Amino acid sequence: MESKRNRADELSTESWSIESWLVAGGRDRSPGAPLNVPLVPASNFVLGERRAYSRDDGTPTWEALEEIVGGMEGGDALAFASGMAAIAAVFEQLPGSATILLPDDCYQGVAGLAAAGEARGRWRVRRIAVADTAAWIEGCRDADLIWLESPSNPLLAVADLRAICAAPRKEGAILAVDNTFATPLNQRPLQLGANISMLSATKFIGGHSDLLGGIVTVNDPRLYAALRHTRELTGATPGTLECFLAVRGVRTLGLRLARAQESAAVLAERLNGHASVSITRYPGLPGHATHAVAREQLGGFGTIISFDVRGDAEAAESVCSALRLIQHATSLGAVESTMERRAGIPGQEHLPPSLLRLSVGIENAEDLWRDLDRALRAAG
Ligand SMILES: *Cc1c(COP(=O)(O)O)cnc(C)c1O
Repeated sequence: MESKRNRADELSTESWSIESWLVAGGRDRSPGAPLNVPLVPASNFVLGERRAYSRDDGTPTWEALEEIVGGMEGGDALAFASGMAAIAAVFEQLPGSATILLPDDCYQGVAGLAAAGEARGRWRVRRIAVADTAAWIEGCRDADLIWLESPSNPLLAVADLRAICAAPRKEGAILAVDNTFATPLNQRPLQLGANISMLSATKFIGGHSDLLGGIVTVNDPRLYAALRHTRELTGATPGTLECFLAVRGVRTLGLRLARAQESAAVLAERLNGHASVSITRYPGLPGHATHAVAREQLGGFGTIISFDVRGDAEAAESVCSALRLIQHATSLGAVESTMERRAGIPGQEHLPPSLLRLSVGIENAEDLWRDLDRALRAAG
């Protein structure tokens, strides 16, 4: 049964596009096998075979997700309980007194984790502007962990991953890219020379706001074994139902992303010309600070837009309250569009007070525009 899975000669991203792989991968093709991976809620297995205990040995359901995402990213994937659990497992690999490079704009959870460890003397953290490629290259020489996030959350700055990944780094240093916003359909960090690509599967992979999950993909067997060992020891294992749902969700990622991305381009352009909006940030806009790198590096510009409403925090909040189609909610990468004021989140007070982050979903683009335009007018 195992031998029928993962047959690289028959089915892999070497011979098929990622769009086909994410539909066909992670399935058992033996005669009589269920087409979809079964939901296997098991902690332990009858002894004598490869699997004894799921925290150590995984389950078929987790492994289907790992196989699909590993194939998309071009490496070996490990699923975790959440994106943060996956990030924490990477940080866990660091030696004592390590130096971590972190973008000035990044997910607040990773910044919080880095700050908490620094406060306890575990490591030192240096923040670098996402677009300051020269500073990243310089920093690579002595850092133990180079943590990149591109496009960044929520300012959507695109790092020059190709240049930074090619820079000489210290022996044993880890360069990791948070690939949550781009997804492996728009960007494959391992192919650019990163050691790790990390995804919050909670977002685009699951795609339906109904699960928490994280995935780390690597192409180095030693790093894979170390991360797997950390998952065992810390118990940061994924839920079986969550993996089942994530597999179901990822099947439509190609369609969801293409549709939402097309709408996002239209909405970004219109927001950019709207009288009630002072700044629109979207990597696909020619006026975007890192548009040139984005065009060169990304397969698509993504589905996230952040824009500043003219006026104060209250004006931005009232835009959110006036929405009828778009959900006033956090998170991103789902079928439904969501929008929120980011500076209202604890730890995000440094952001422009009227910045709204919009995650474009798969609704009709003209309906989304009507909702946005009406909400902006009502507030303005
Ligand atoms: C949501 C998110 C995370 C954290 O993932 P969780 O699944 O919420 O733990 C990390 N990075 C980025 C860019 C995210 O958007």
